[in-house]
Amino acid sequence: MAESSRLVLHLGTGNPHKAEEFMRMAPPGVSVLAAFFPDYPAPGVLESGKTFFANAFFKAETFARALRERTAGMVFADDSGLVVPALSGEPGVRSARYAGEEASDTQNRELLLKNMKGLSGADRRAHFVCVLVAIDIATGSLRAASSGMVSGRIANGLMGEGGFGYDPLFVPEGYRASFGIMAPEEKNRISHRFRAFRQLCQALESP
Ligand code: IMP
Repeated sequence: MAESSRLVLHLGTGNPHKAEEFMRMAPPGVSVLAAFFPDYPAPGVLESGKTFFANAFFKAETFARALRERTAGMVFADDSGLVVPALSGEPGVRSARYAGEEASDTQNRELLLKNMKGLSGADRRAHFVCVLVAIDIATGSLRAASSGMVSGRIANGLMGEGGFGYDPLFVPEGYRASFGIMAPEEKNRISHRFRAFRQLCQALESP
């Protein structure tokens, strides 16, 4: 319960999958309250920066302003994506819009598979990256930032139907199953998002 938590964090997101993951992975004593906005700006508006940090910062600031009338405390935002070195870092910060502004997860995955056709071995290496930024809602000042990464490879075709985004294509290092096959608890133990969130909580809780 939020009342008995030592750390209460509002999460600014328009992505229900991310909200679910953060709520599931919150350590004891940490509460994540998902702040959804029906008028959440289009991804192109909030994610026009060149880096994950720039986008996460801009999103957190936007949500802090939107929440200011209603509550105090802290809000954090996530910008994340898939980086494929053999594609010069694509889809990167454009992961959600890889196949176009209104692209679906299916279209993004199809384009990735198409662009990686003929690549094998080390050329199929990929990393998921997550950057988190926490901002004080009342003052708008930066409280903490963190990042997390998980390395793996892109499968030759869809593996499973679970998760979201590129999960059915991403096989983490040391595993045979993709994130699309794994139980959510297992993904949440090793994911880029989990690693970044753990670091963010530590930074916010350290004196
Ligand atoms: P954004 O942070 O809102 O720009 O969206 C990140 C995009 O990167 C998502 O729409 C997915 O396509 C991809 N992505 C980020 N994290 C994950 C993940 O954990 N699994 C699968 N895809 C992800």
